[in-house]
Amino acid sequence: MLILMEAEATRAQIDRVCDRVRELGYAPHEMPGAQRVAIGVTGNKGGIDPGHFKRLDGVHDAVAVSRPYKLVGREVNPEGTIVEVAGTRIGGGELTVMAGPCSVESRDQVLSTARHVRSLGATILRGGAFKPRTSPYDFQGLREEGLELLAEAREATGMPIITEVKDTETLPLVARYADILQVGARNMQNFTLLEAIGGLDKPVMLKRGMSASVKEWLMAAEYIVSRGNLNVVLCERGIRTFETATRNTLDLGIIPLLRGMTHLPIIVDPSHGTGVAAAVTPLARAATAVGVDGIMVEVHPEPAKALSDGPQALTFPMFETLMAEVSKVAGAIGQPVAQLSTPSKTPSTSAHDEARA
Ligand code: PEP
Ligand code: MN
Repeated sequence: MLILMEAEATRAQIDRVCDRVRELGYAPHEMPGAQRVAIGVTGNKGGIDPGHFKRLDGVHDAVAVSRPYKLVGREVNPEGTIVEVAGTRIGGGELTVMAGPCSVESRDQVLSTARHVRSLGATILRGGAFKPRTSPYDFQGLREEGLELLAEAREATGMPIITEVKDTETLPLVARYADILQVGARNMQNFTLLEAIGGLDKPVMLKRGMSASVKEWLMAAEYIVSRGNLNVVLCERGIRTFETATRNTLDLGIIPLLRGMTHLPIIVDPSHGTGVAAAVTPLARAATAVGVDGIMVEVHPEPAKALSDGPQALTFPMFETLMAEVSKVAGAIGQPVAQLSTPSKTPSTSAHDEARA
């Protein structure tokens, strides 16, 4: 059941409706929207009589929700959710560019990449410190040292940082540094992790599992939102198909459908979606044209030397081309590229850098 409040509903009226939901033995979930508050009701086994709520003051309507995802469905917030991130936002009609290395490898590597992508218009810095690797013998990430380097890059460029959290044990540590928590494809159905993140008040980007249907993906998002964390962004990063020429098959076809299914912002990651650096910019253009809230791409100063995902990493000049081309496509469809309000705190050759050099 979804209870739609009047646009002018008062705090007391919203509280009264939530109390009524609890009196009936269900759980209310208050979901703020651009126009009005919606209250999702969960915990019911069968249908609920909308008459319980329709007569209460401040209630505009009460409608049954037949979809299994009750809180991330489009009808909860038809205008679309905007996720506020330190100094910028995801959603609301702008195109966010997240860029950075797959893994944080060294101070120079992450700082030079951060400065480069920032100078060309990226607003969020990506970089993995805890890496989920297929082989236990591969580079596993710099762990806390990687988080510290990301924090230093944030300080230097003003860009908020997104980094992957692999498990509940390291969640408190990663959450102390990250502006956005990334849940990787391999963890999309780690329900214990999703529930723990649901209890935090921190933006999270939930990547689609490599074999996950859209319904499974949205149900995973529902785990987070139903625990009270409404700041969820979805990321399509390619799914596994019979095709082996690309690392994954980027499912751009799902984006327009997904838009109709959920109010959550949508990001596309053409780096993991193809695994081939030469394919990243064309698919970033295509994703922009399809209509997304942002793109995430991997950039490395020397892809041949990358400790993870080198074959899909853009060089600095390739990222420059990507930004020029994606901006043109975004302009053609009337979508401004998102900006950052936090200024860079240190110029590229600061006393701070020199002192450390
Ligand atoms: C990554 O972003 O580096 C990553 C591991 O992504 P995914 O979970 O999509 O494989
Ligand atoms: Mn990667």
